[in-house]
Amino acid sequence: MKEFVCISCPRGCLLHVEGDKVTGNFCKRGEIYGKAEATHPERALSSTVRIIGAKLPYLPVKSAKPIPKDKMFEAMKQINEIVVKAPVRKGDVLLENLASTAIPLIATRSFSLYNKESEEVFMDLKGKVLFASDLHGRRERLKSFLKRIEEEKPDWILMGGDLVYYGPRNGIPEDRDEDFVRQELKALYEKGNFFSVRGNCDRNEDQIPFDLPILRELTYEKKKIALFHGHEESLFALSSKKYDAYLFGHTHLYCIDETKEGLFLNPGSLGFPKENHVPTYMVLEEGWKIRLQRLEDGKTLMRYHAFKEEKEWKM
Ligand code: SF4
Repeated sequence: MKEFVCISCPRGCLLHVEGDKVTGNFCKRGEIYGKAEATHPERALSSTVRIIGAKLPYLPVKSAKPIPKDKMFEAMKQINEIVVKAPVRKGDVLLENLASTAIPLIATRSFSLYNKESEEVFMDLKGKVLFASDLHGRRERLKSFLKRIEEEKPDWILMGGDLVYYGPRNGIPEDRDEDFVRQELKALYEKGNFFSVRGNCDRNEDQIPFDLPILRELTYEKKKIALFHGHEESLFALSSKKYDAYLFGHTHLYCIDETKEGLFLNPGSLGFPKENHVPTYMVLEEGWKIRLQRLEDGKTLMRYHAFKEEKEWKM
């Protein structure tokens, strides 16, 4: 017997599949999903490719249809090799035969030619950076975060995804308010210093007006950063690329871990911290000084100075 969570709708039924018998499904779609998942699992693939000559360095793309799950790695390797030149129109086919599946890879956004061509693909951040993740549509938590933004006055705000939708595994919070969250995040986005990536709970409609790629590549004081959510699809996007720092969310547990593989930072969750943690976010300042902050009152819970010979912690 195999078990799967049906991802065809937010209800998230737990399916049991034995042979061609599916139980636990609330509707017919679950039966179809369960049989397909047991015999030939498929996933819609969304990612980004590098684009030259456009206002932004990345172009969002997707497979025209779901592709076999076991082709994801090969597909991501191909996608990571692609560099396109602006202009590009939404729907343009960038690759006819993604990972030998006969399924094309298409652009999901239009870009016109912007000023002059630039080879620079990493967006360079400077100054103070606020990093938070996994808000999951909670009004009161966002209000607190907006207060902390006002106090800190960051130059950049980064989010690790799972912004608007509560996510069936978290339960519905009492302050669920998707309209408020969408509106306030839109206002931040329009100031031009807000970036997020897409999490496993971000739906297509949550990308409006946000451009939520699976992976964003940034630099901060000459260190290369990968900003991603941390779920399976985003790990595929990382593929075999190497960065100095990895900024992610998804686990709802904060983490500051510097190893020879790089610096790993997770700010914890604004919406649903796990293991009795309080809601937290992070601040990154010049010299790679990192603070873990309590959302409720902006109190510093932990300090760490990264990329130094000697590890330097303060609690
Ligand atoms: S079985 Fe039906 S109701 Fe249950 S998650 Fe799947 S689509 Fe939704």
